[in-house]
Amino acid sequence: MEESGGRGLLMEAQYLKGVGPRTAMHLNKIGLFTVGDVLSYLPRRYEDRTALPPITFLKPGEFASARGRLVGFSSRPLRGGKVMIRATIEDETGGLDLVFFNQPWVQRDMGKAQGEIIAFGLVKEGRSGGLEMSSPEWEHIDPDDEADGFARIVPIYPLKEGVPQWAVRRAAQAAAQYFAPQALDPVPADLLKRERLPSLSWALSQIHLPDTMEHQAKARARLAYDEFLALQLTLEIKRRELRQEVGAAFPISKIGQAPAEGGALFGDEEIAALPIWGQIGAMLPFQLTGAQKRVIGEVFADMESEAPMNRLVQGDVGSGKTAVAACAMLAAVRCGWQAALMAPTEILAEQHGMNLKRMFAPLGIEVRLLVGKQAAKVKRRGLQMAASGEAQICVGTHALIQEGVQFAKLGLAVIDEQHRFGVLQRAALRQKGLGNPDVLVMTATPIPRTLTMSVYGDLDVSVIDELPPGRKPIKTHWKLPHDRDSVYANVRKLIEQGRQAYFVCPAITESEKLQAAAAEDLHHRLSHDEYPDLKVGLLHGQMKPVDKEAVMEQFRSGELNILVSTVVIEVGVDVPNASVMVIEDANRFGLSQLHQLRGRVGRGEWQSYCILIGAATSPDTEARLSTMVRTTDGFEIAEEDLRIRGPGDLIGVRQSGAAELKVADLVKDMVLLQRAKDAARRILDDDPDLAAHPNLLELARRQRTGDALISIS
Ligand code: ADP
Ligand code: MG
Repeated sequence: MEESGGRGLLMEAQYLKGVGPRTAMHLNKIGLFTVGDVLSYLPRRYEDRTALPPITFLKPGEFASARGRLVGFSSRPLRGGKVMIRATIEDETGGLDLVFFNQPWVQRDMGKAQGEIIAFGLVKEGRSGGLEMSSPEWEHIDPDDEADGFARIVPIYPLKEGVPQWAVRRAAQAAAQYFAPQALDPVPADLLKRERLPSLSWALSQIHLPDTMEHQAKARARLAYDEFLALQLTLEIKRRELRQEVGAAFPISKIGQAPAEGGALFGDEEIAALPIWGQIGAMLPFQLTGAQKRVIGEVFADMESEAPMNRLVQGDVGSGKTAVAACAMLAAVRCGWQAALMAPTEILAEQHGMNLKRMFAPLGIEVRLLVGKQAAKVKRRGLQMAASGEAQICVGTHALIQEGVQFAKLGLAVIDEQHRFGVLQRAALRQKGLGNPDVLVMTATPIPRTLTMSVYGDLDVSVIDELPPGRKPIKTHWKLPHDRDSVYANVRKLIEQGRQAYFVCPAITESEKLQAAAAEDLHHRLSHDEYPDLKVGLLHGQMKPVDKEAVMEQFRSGELNILVSTVVIEVGVDVPNASVMVIEDANRFGLSQLHQLRGRVGRGEWQSYCILIGAATSPDTEARLSTMVRTTDGFEIAEEDLRIRGPGDLIGVRQSGAAELKVADLVKDMVLLQRAKDAARRILDDDPDLAAHPNLLELARRQRTGDALISIS
């Protein structure tokens, strides 16, 4: 190493000890240019070479490392011009074959150097009875490395083809040794002490050059903590900013204070004279559950305050979120504002429109539906009424925002079953000139607690954790495809008892056309072969909105016995008499999706069933289907889903920045996440704009922009 000071982490990687311009070219191919880049490039896993077992101790079925001299080599052509290479390595105790398919360069690369090879892979029993590894990772043992400590824990870095492991390793080791001490620690020393976390310099050197795996774990935790802290600071700052804004303050507690004037009839004016909870009692045909009451209370408190509400209501399917929304809208209207409810599909908007009209009509409150398919005249009138304020409640699809409907005085926007929400949504409302209404987002997509905390940290969250009374838990069964006939026979029995059934066919492809074709097939099979005597309807995304609504109406009214559908049925549809759902090829669905689908049944007084038909095509499939059989708790299912799939494709994660986590794991590091969240709050309580913590501010910025978290000294 030449002079290490001065240029610090900005120095070009080629000047690192043992690197040079040629090695640097390899590094550049994977985006590593500076010493800082190298330090931030973290190993994918580690190989413990402190105790490499002799070859004879290798066991089939294990992932292991093996070290030996290259003693034999053969290559055999395969069909299609491909080639299979078999290299044999040997130590004093035995031999091992390394098998490579169609990697012709292996022969050249292996032959190049003398000496020993180290390989890592799955040990199998070969056809001839000896041990082999197929397509292992491998490398030459570099005599230089050997000199300065080969027998240690060695980091293995993620690579692109053509970039050798040793190039990154060499650079990382030099960087860790000489430059890690220069890394600027963004986390204040007292916080580190309190959290019992090591310094960043120590963590960086141990992540690349661990003394022991315990040290590596500690180092990793430190780096994960930084990521979480950065994310939490960002979210918490956003949340606080929102609190500062001024929105409508609804004087809910003053509603109904004007004394009612005579009249024995319990008409709309009579109701309007009641305090809000009295009006709610008159409006709803049932008693609210304790959870609904609590959540409505939380919503009212937000609405009364001047800061704009930004609340997420999570409630499992069937927990009664619509009633909560209705209460909030009622309060808004009684305070002299308009309310809008937005649903993701027209079917759902229609359904909400229908239910809300029924609820609000006796109170003399005007509910207006605004959807694309309406006749021009009806639509124009609706738009007029929204703009004049005559329509006190407007119900539509999310397009309500996009199409720029004008409101006279929009005070509350309820967004139902929306998956991409939060700050983005508010921004959209404001951009469309809809002012700064209170926003209530409702979702049944059970978002795991872990994610709520990390991803939706900028929203306040209420949870409806209780179902209305008298619901019988849905019974879920998993049947193999060859049991289909008996499933169909049992469905028939339920239909003969007066119930209705859903049949869902899978979204095998992204293409709506192919999904529609699959649904048509199933519809044909059921209506012609299985249930020719019953009424079987069909619903899929390719149908015209009018036809969709007609079919839904037939099913709602009981005219149809069976509804065959694609996943368009997934959200919100509410037909209490439908007590059985058969999900075909259930193995092709994700866990959360299965849970959403299942929520379409169990909405009435009847014992309901969900039958999953599918083969156990993989361990994941088996895990998913048995989880569905085991539990109906949406949160448990969501946590399980997160465990099986990881957070990558979970809804909303991408926008949040949590998808950019490089070290931290939302599932495994949950405790760390909570600690980082608490710390972020404490720090911001004392120093709201991080003026006294410029390094933390920079850390948060880097996390948002996806830059490396390690800053320059
Ligand atoms: P979700 O939370 O899935 O949107 P809904 O709002 O559609 O649920 O409610 C599901 C069903 O439960 C509806 O038929 C609704 O009328 C009914 N419901 C809601 N709250 C209660 C309650 N407190 N008691 C009885 N039934 C209720
Ligand atoms: Mg709903």
